[in-house]
Amino acid sequence: MHPDLNKLLELQARDIELMGVDARLKELDLEREALNTDLNRAREAVAAAQRAMEAGSRQRDELEAKIEAHRKHQEKRKEKLEFMRTPKEVAGLMAEIDLARGVLSTEETDWVRSSDQVTQLEMRVVEAEQQVKAIEADQAEARRGLDSRRGVLDIERQAALTRREESARNVRKPLLQQYDKLRASATRRVEVVVALSGPACGACFTTVPVNRRTQIKTGAVIEGCESCGVILYAAE
Ligand SMILES: [Zn+2]
Repeated sequence: MHPDLNKLLELQARDIELMGVDARLKELDLEREALNTDLNRAREAVAAAQRAMEAGSRQRDELEAKIEAHRKHQEKRKEKLEFMRTPKEVAGLMAEIDLARGVLSTEETDWVRSSDQVTQLEMRVVEAEQQVKAIEADQAEARRGLDSRRGVLDIERQAALTRREESARNVRKPLLQQYDKLRASATRRVEVVVALSGPACGACFTTVPVNRRTQIKTGAVIEGCESCGVILYAAE
């Protein structure tokens, strides 16, 4: 085997190690995301309950202001009653007062209903807030676990990266560039340095011509597969 290939295979092993750590880090991220999704859903429920409660309060306050204004009008009508001269005027104003009393009574009933509704909506906010607290408490242990696993993995990743860089220093620059380029473009493949599989490329199984195969086997050259581009070597 070409001596550079051993160094390249060593580098590839380090890269696969690094990918393994990255995959575990990604899993942690997904676990954290799942926790965040649950918590955010509960927080959104609080926000929605608060909006409903605020809308309800506004409606109640508007009703209250309206009732207050109608009450004042009614007071003025009653005061005016003393100054009415004729029975016709008195009867007219009395009819107005009766009508206004009916309106006020309906509005007051509406206000009581509206006020009860606000109380219900306030309770719903409290319940939603309690739900958030319950989820936070439920998740506390899981989050602590995630934090400590991340701490361990961060250290592991740093170590794997250092080993990778050390390996990379042993590989000749042009070969390293070729390898890095292959790695960057290989989205699904884990290995970009691949053993021959019989007469064919071990990645895409395209047959490699005999003379090139021989050169690969004797270590005379470092060849890439003509079809898929992976760097080929002959397994001992
Ligand atoms: Zn191939």
